[in-house]
Amino acid sequence: TVVHKYPVCWRCDTPLIIRATKQWFIRISDIREKLLSESDKVEWVPRWGGERRFRDWLLGVEDWIISRQRYWGIPMPIWICEKCGKVEVMGSSKELEDRSGVKLNDLHRPWVDEVSIKCDSCGGTMRRIPDIMDVWYDSGISFFASLGYPYKTDSLSEMFPVDFITEGHDQVRGWFFSLLRMGVLLFGRAPYRSVLMHGFMLDEKGREMHKRLGNYVPPQEIVKRFGRDCFRAFVLTKVPWQDLRFSWRGMEEVWRKLNIIWNVYVFATTYIGDKEIKEIDPRDVRDPINKWLISRLNIMMKNFREAMEGYNLHIASNEIINFLVEDVSHLYLRVSRKKIRSKDEATSSEWISVLYYVLRNVIPYLSIVTPFLAEKIYLDAFMMDGDPESVNFLTLPEPDSYMIDEELESLMDIVRRIISSSGQARSSVGLKKRQPLRRMIISSENPAVKKAVENFSEVIMIEANLREVELGDPPKDEKWIEGSFNGGKIYLSLEIGEEEILEGLSRELIRRIQLMRKELGLTLGVERIEVYIQGDEEIRKAVDSFYDDIAWNSDADLIKVVNDPEEVSEFSLGKEWEIDGKKVVIWVKKI
Ligand SMILES: [Zn+2]
Ligand SMILES: [Zn+2]
Repeated sequence: TVVHKYPVCWRCDTPLIIRATKQWFIRISDIREKLLSESDKVEWVPRWGGERRFRDWLLGVEDWIISRQRYWGIPMPIWICEKCGKVEVMGSSKELEDRSGVKLNDLHRPWVDEVSIKCDSCGGTMRRIPDIMDVWYDSGISFFASLGYPYKTDSLSEMFPVDFITEGHDQVRGWFFSLLRMGVLLFGRAPYRSVLMHGFMLDEKGREMHKRLGNYVPPQEIVKRFGRDCFRAFVLTKVPWQDLRFSWRGMEEVWRKLNIIWNVYVFATTYIGDKEIKEIDPRDVRDPINKWLISRLNIMMKNFREAMEGYNLHIASNEIINFLVEDVSHLYLRVSRKKIRSKDEATSSEWISVLYYVLRNVIPYLSIVTPFLAEKIYLDAFMMDGDPESVNFLTLPEPDSYMIDEELESLMDIVRRIISSSGQARSSVGLKKRQPLRRMIISSENPAVKKAVENFSEVIMIEANLREVELGDPPKDEKWIEGSFNGGKIYLSLEIGEEEILEGLSRELIRRIQLMRKELGLTLGVERIEVYIQGDEEIRKAVDSFYDDIAWNSDADLIKVVNDPEEVSEFSLGKEWEIDGKKVVIWVKKI
């Protein structure tokens, strides 16, 4: 007995026998050179898709077996004389009708099998061969069949060759090839100008997803848990031509970013409220932080467009998401919050107008990555009388290269380095970020550092939680921690007096009041509250010294330090906290 491998039917496991049979071919090997030269004219993304994978495949291409012994499909239009063996190929339904005298409404089997032709050589009967065409024949002619050619010609002459096709990397020998083959056979050229070859979605460990492996995640489930926008953004932000590993953790990361973007708009629209928005001319903006943001906006728009032109969807998508998360939310809003919320109308109106201008320009870009989120924001906050009824009808604003200020960008990079070195210096001695420090001295010979500090000292003070920022050398008679950044050194004063400690405590209180507001579902800028606090003498002092600051930051009309919970009559929420080892009870009441 010889034990050997045996092919079986993939559906019913019936053993199969492989044997040679006679088939019809198209001699593709004759046009191999033409296929190669036509393929070289196509723009491939990624380039190695065309230069390596597709080219390798074309180099080894063999003659094409076009006949199949099946029932459903395109019947092969070949008739053979029973008597003399003459072969005729019908070029059209019209030709078949002329030759046979039979008009068919349906050219498929079984009807077409009934049609016979009289042989013009010997007068015998010609019958169709029973075969059908390889399905790759149908797929290969989709570029003209879908345009009604050859019955109609205008659409094809207008659109041929098509600009763009996209499919997975399994289609190198599939659709990419079948289109090229039919294009070259019938029209003498590649039927497409550019190809984006995308990857597959795999599981977290990089395995193919299969129901039987139990690692298959139905898209409906992803959409149900995170929504379409989040799923779409998850896919779009990854390199399209690489296989994509799906993970719930990855979805959560994207969800967090979209949530930050949503909160940017909630914040903006809350403070825009019914304020008058001034139409700004971005070229007139003078404040360096606003100028920087507008510069960033224009760079984002420029990079987005360039990335899209080259089908780099991931670069474009990350540009817009990072702009809103890193530049707008994490940096700009933190430093501009005070001005946007300022009681001084002129200040708040100026800053809110810049923010409004930037966000209004961003929305059409955002709608490409997260269409539902963008539509909601547009309809809720930005659609004015006379505007199109959907974000999808807005045109993408053009970037203005005049507004791109590369110097300001590089200065902000220096600022970011200073802030990050301050964070490292703090954590090296276990100093909390919420503890305000008296001052930072920045020491550098680099004129750009000096300029960065002059332009953005406010950003450094807010982000590094300082009361002062200076350029210079550290004095000898003060306690410091030192940090360094690419460009210089920083010295953080460790002289933490009562003032700084109380301010630090006030920040701790603000943070907890804000957490409690959130728990009660109260939006900053909308609902106002009363706050009652029970704590030790230092807490009382902190509230006294920083009353306005706490009240302003938590939208409170009243902050009262109590000795006894009895003094708090009615409250919405009371909570016990620990702040620097002290027990503090906070009550928040919505007014
Ligand atoms: Zn079977
Ligand atoms: Zn004949």
